Amino acid sequence: MPHTEFSSNVARLEASATLALAARARKLKAEGVPVIDLSAGEPQYPAPRFAARAGIRAVEAGKTGYPPTLGLPELREAIARYLNETTGAGSVDPGSVIVGAGVKQSLFNCCYALFGAGDEVLVPSPYWPSYPVIVRLAGADPVVVETGWDAGFLPSVADLEAARTGRTRGLLLNSPGNPTGAVIPRGLLRDILRWAERHGIWVLSDEIYRRLAYGQPSPSVFDITERGERTVLLDGMSKAFCMPGFRIGYAVGPRELVRKMSDLQGQTTSGAVGPSQYAAAAALGESGAREAFITDLLSRLTGLREVGLAGFAEIDSIEATPPDGALYFYGRLTDPTETSLDIAERLLVDASVACMPGEPFGSPGHLRFNFAVERDVLEKGLARIADFFG
Ligand code: PMP
Ligand code: GLU
Repeated sequence: MPHTEFSSNVARLEASATLALAARARKLKAEGVPVIDLSAGEPQYPAPRFAARAGIRAVEAGKTGYPPTLGLPELREAIARYLNETTGAGSVDPGSVIVGAGVKQSLFNCCYALFGAGDEVLVPSPYWPSYPVIVRLAGADPVVVETGWDAGFLPSVADLEAARTGRTRGLLLNSPGNPTGAVIPRGLLRDILRWAERHGIWVLSDEIYRRLAYGQPSPSVFDITERGERTVLLDGMSKAFCMPGFRIGYAVGPRELVRKMSDLQGQTTSGAVGPSQYAAAAALGESGAREAFITDLLSRLTGLREVGLAGFAEIDSIEATPPDGALYFYGRLTDPTETSLDIAERLLVDASVACMPGEPFGSPGHLRFNFAVERDVLEKGLARIADFFG
């Protein structure tokens, strides 16, 4: 093979570490290795049946043409209603909603539409690995704002202000956060939004784990009346609705931005997969069934979180605090002589447990474990981890 010279567009592109590890675990399993996969962040449960059936019905009814680029009107309406019912927004208008192929695409399009060469975008760490990569693909520079274990992994306004320059155009927020599970309390969220508004900074709030909170509900930017015009909410079907394979996410923001994102999507991928949109519209639109599904999921995850916390309490080498939200234990390694990358590799090879090392999240010395699996899988995984660390 001749050496391929790639374009400057992708010169610094890294593959998704989370997807790469999940693929590796899948391959090992296919080869017969009994891997316990706690790597990728996905609830390993089926989608709501009533939603899946709506997708199937759409296909059987021949609703298989190109969907509108912005998303099916009934889905955009269902999203607006869902946000009006579950946040303090009050009056989200379907015209401010655009549907994409997952939060990943919606976030990419949003960043691509808003940020470019010379712009800086603040990314609190630990972060979901795709954030800095997406910002760079847009041509802008991610500026990492370190939070820490002692600060409960929450960025303060002072931290953000210290990182702000004349080039700061955006801030990516994620609460509950992946990988830490940290929930930004309402007062802090309000202060951050006020600060951003004062400095003309766009806030892109990835709320994909909003409904998965274990104590207090996790506030949305739409709960904060003082939020400015430059606020975008991102959410999707992959976590609270167990529909990652449907690939449906959405962004809600100013109409002008939504129109530009639609232009971009119309030139690249077109509207999100049609049958998936019908399924998502059913999942969100039938509010009784929707809330019952989320309540069940949350009670299942609450039980698993207890199992995990009890398990990790017995493992001295990993210090795991109770996550306030999301699907993960983010544990700190108590013996820092070996990197988390090396330990995750040895855990996979020697103990057949797949987890994510902290490095791709911008915080070496930690391991992330997805606990949204079957209970026996989690228990088996914890037993192997305990054996591994002896
Ligand atoms: N944001 C965060 C914080 C995530 O953890 C993930 C995936 N786990 C995504 C976005 C992407 O989700 P989607 O499947 O909607 O693209
Ligand atoms: N986001 C999930 C994770 O953090 C799934 C993989 C991905 O989309 O990056 O593992």
